[in-house]
Amino acid sequence: MLFDSYIDADKDSIVREIQNLVRIRSVEEQPEEGKPFGKGPDEALRYMLQAGRSLGFDTENFDGYAGQIEYGSGQGIVGVLVHVDVVPEGDGWTHPPYSAKIIDGKIYGRGAYDDKGACIAALYALKALRASQIPIRKRIRIIIGANEETGMKDIPYYLTKEREPDMAFSPDAPFPVVYGEKGILELVFRKKFRQDGPGIISRIDGGTAAKIVPGRCSCVLRVNTEEKDRVITILSGMKTGFEKLHEYEPEHQELSVTIIGKEAYGTTPDQGKNAISGMMAFLEKADFMEEELLTFIREYNRKIGEEYDGSALKCNFSDDISTPLTFNTGTVLYENGSIEMKAHIRYPIRTDHEDILRNIRDNFLPGDVSIEIDRLSKAHLIDKESFLVKKLMGIYREATGDTAAEPETMTGGTYARSLNNAVAFGPLFPGEKQMAHSTDEYLTIASILKAAKIYAQAMYELAAEEQ
Ligand SMILES: [Zn+2]
Repeated sequence: MLFDSYIDADKDSIVREIQNLVRIRSVEEQPEEGKPFGKGPDEALRYMLQAGRSLGFDTENFDGYAGQIEYGSGQGIVGVLVHVDVVPEGDGWTHPPYSAKIIDGKIYGRGAYDDKGACIAALYALKALRASQIPIRKRIRIIIGANEETGMKDIPYYLTKEREPDMAFSPDAPFPVVYGEKGILELVFRKKFRQDGPGIISRIDGGTAAKIVPGRCSCVLRVNTEEKDRVITILSGMKTGFEKLHEYEPEHQELSVTIIGKEAYGTTPDQGKNAISGMMAFLEKADFMEEELLTFIREYNRKIGEEYDGSALKCNFSDDISTPLTFNTGTVLYENGSIEMKAHIRYPIRTDHEDILRNIRDNFLPGDVSIEIDRLSKAHLIDKESFLVKKLMGIYREATGDTAAEPETMTGGTYARSLNNAVAFGPLFPGEKQMAHSTDEYLTIASILKAAKIYAQAMYELAAEEQ
């Protein structure tokens, strides 16, 4: 392709700049003046813009929310959307997460793959395009967000300051073109019970976030010694695949029970073991008859339980272009006679979220539990036959020789969904391991160089014609 030699010539600079960016721990922190997402994301954003300026491009910082590196002139705007923030590194790394160490052609570090490699690949693609002196007819803007991982407040802010690109791609996903993304719906279930005074179940507490399959759920039961023995027998007798712990505190007659399952992403609930569901099954079996809470628990077990497709809630929607709906109960908190439970739903592209909400309200203790939307990010779909999709598919097929490749849809959300005419496009090649958010995240240098060549060609072809 046209720009390969320019990218190859810049190989060392590309690798060095990715390493420098990875060494900045750009996890969201407390906001500071002019740094809406805290120190790390701000530093990474400024580093990226400085890298752009030092290559001679015009740059702009939008109050620490997002930045822009621009080349070209004309009415039309082509956007390339990347992000410099990262998720927390977590435990268990073999290589220090911000060392950017290179081993066997891979750069290790949090953010190396997601999305710092793509940031630098896009920048050097733009440099290659300029160096070639091939004329273009539009402006190309690399738009750099600082809050993709923890709220996506960056691109909406950018769009209050700048015109939306006419077309855009976001290198933050697998190749080839991702033309559709599933919808994201988070619901909060709330109920206040009428009982006065403490019951036998005094507390239930499980999970860390709606979008994570809870690995742990605990409860505190007020039971005398005799009742305690009955409950422990029930607990021990459950053949569920959960680990079960208990501890009795005789002075206050409190029995603490903990159910341990397996954490996983809420988008793949079948790969985890939901500890909240384990707890609910146990509490129903323990059968504390006078507890009003038990109505809720029984309903949970009948309508949710360890089912992940929402079928008992009559929201097991599916369509011809995406994977079926997934339902994950992520958190529960019961105390002082009130329960709050959060669920994370990924729904098919052609499904209307109102139908899901209605069916859940009609099927889960109708009229008795408040069910509200905590988060909604509607599904995203771009015409497969559009100029944008066809151009990018053509470039991908030519660059890889994979002529059978077809555009795809996915479960994960990218910046593409915040624009009207945008798709996700690489940098992960088929057969490569998805490293986003993993321990020992790495970026394969050969792959990111190949991606940079594809991005240069894409920038050129999208900006070459007045389309
Ligand atoms: Zn990302």
